[in-house]
Amino acid sequence: MLIHGQCHCGNIAFDLEWEGNPPEIPARACGCSFCIKHGGVWTSNPKATLAVAIRDPTLVSRYAFGSRTATFHVCSRCGAVPLVTSDIANHLYAVVNVNVLENVDPLWLRRAAANFEGEDIESRLARRRRNWIADVRIVDGNA
Ligand SMILES: [Zn+2]
Repeated sequence: MLIHGQCHCGNIAFDLEWEGNPPEIPARACGCSFCIKHGGVWTSNPKATLAVAIRDPTLVSRYAFGSRTATFHVCSRCGAVPLVTSDIANHLYAVVNVNVLENVDPLWLRRAAANFEGEDIESRLARRRRNWIADVRIVDGNA
């Protein structure tokens, strides 16, 4: 089904094509220091397709920390964090925040905790290549 998500003010919006109707959506409450502060709960599916539309790219703060292999896309107008991307060998992967999904029944979420602290960079990137959304398109501006 087609899942829609967006930050609170709508500056960062996306359409996520996900198998199944209703779909089963893993929801991983991340234990990293950023996600604890933001309440980040993420989902991905290697077979999903993600199309992101950013109305005003000057109102997106791109934040990275630690190993700097992941970029958090923070809306600087409303503060929501709809997605995280990781550029691995010139291919863009992403996870999206389940809290910004609009047409999803909470019963479809399969909640679990996740903590990847202590994982080395190589296994971290390999895990993202296996599990993250691999078909990601980001369009800036009013295209
Ligand atoms: Zn916003």
